[in-house]
Amino acid sequence: MKTVGILGGGQLGCMLSEALFNYGAKVIFYDPEPRSPSFHRSAKHFCGAWNDRKLLEHFFSQCDVVTYEFENVAVNLLTSLINKTQTPLYPSENILAITQNRIQEKNFLLQNNFPVCFFKECNSLEDFLKNMQLFSFPYIIKTVVGGYDGKGQWLIHDKISQDKFITEISANEFTPYIIEEKINIFCEASCIVARNLNSDKVCLPIFDNIHKNQILFQTHIPSHLPENLQNKLTEIAIKAADKLNVIGLLTTEFFITKQKSSNKFHTECIDGFYIYVNEFAPRPHNSGHISRNACTSSQYDLLARVLLNIPLHTPKIFSGHFCMENMLGNIWLNEGQQKNLNLKSWQAHPNVTAITLYGKEDAQINRKMGHFICHAESYDLCNLYANNFREELNESKKH
Ligand code: ADP
Ligand code: MG
Repeated sequence: MKTVGILGGGQLGCMLSEALFNYGAKVIFYDPEPRSPSFHRSAKHFCGAWNDRKLLEHFFSQCDVVTYEFENVAVNLLTSLINKTQTPLYPSENILAITQNRIQEKNFLLQNNFPVCFFKECNSLEDFLKNMQLFSFPYIIKTVVGGYDGKGQWLIHDKISQDKFITEISANEFTPYIIEEKINIFCEASCIVARNLNSDKVCLPIFDNIHKNQILFQTHIPSHLPENLQNKLTEIAIKAADKLNVIGLLTTEFFITKQKSSNKFHTECIDGFYIYVNEFAPRPHNSGHISRNACTSSQYDLLARVLLNIPLHTPKIFSGHFCMENMLGNIWLNEGQQKNLNLKSWQAHPNVTAITLYGKEDAQINRKMGHFICHAESYDLCNLYANNFREELNESKKH
């Protein structure tokens, strides 16, 4: 029986553990949060800081293979743990070094001729002041490390917001940023590739993603994008997984626009749609939750198979349309900080076919606390059912 270590015990790690248990594996979690919901799931866990070398070494030494749902562990520390314990990390620390740093990631895209939006890296205030002049409003500034769900990002609309940002960063020690053109997005999409030790690859279908406030709001499948375009996205995602030599999962996030950018960087155009790679995630992805209900193999199942060396099968979509919608802490706070969500209204919504709650104790604004799935005959009906259910969840306090 294999023991798999998971760095990070959030919802991604928890759902991965379910898939690993299906194949009889043991799972050990490592997470700094003592109330991590993952700690109820496995017989053994380690609670320690991300830089606690001694504890991490102990954790690695207990595992046959380690993977991660949390991407911000120092790569040099991971490298020394792998060398010391001889426990492999999948996907490898070299991939993490690229994907945890937006400059490395964008430069990887540029160097390998992947389509990427116009960006400039800024390693000093002087760089920043010079480079910002290359962008017209609106543009986006992002921290190089540590951002997620839109955190560490600033949309600069005009000279006033630009001046405000400059005043703020001038008052503090400079941390590196990238500046990106703002894409006029027609659709966001993701493609998840699973790749194993034999370099066999399978892909989940293309997911259409809708964001609100830079946080994933809904994922829909099947994708409504033209087939040619979907094939191109899959081809790019596979090429990236091969180039990075991923053992595990690689999610590629795409921006699709109908407006050609004036930038000189590489872009791909299919039938009037321009494609840009936004970023990679070498782990299960929020958009991939939908694969648990809508596909013959989920992203978690595929990763479990790679980690346990079980052959992969190409996932197929079940018939009909599916929509996954994130449930944020706002719903819980609406209900007056109750720990248990009031799910009475679910009874009246038979097309809401699944609800997954993550067991997080503190509801916070914009914190991902769970998600629900709708299944219907069409995209429009899925949307309608999701809207109705969301409205009732948000209203339930008043009943
Ligand atoms: P993270 O997911 O790590 O928070 P992203 O770079 O994926 O960071 O940004 C989150 C969301 O913000 C994207 O999915 C997209 O909706 C929006 N966004 C980010 N960069 C751009 C851009 N250059 N143009 C338009 N929208 C963007
Ligand atoms: Mg993203």
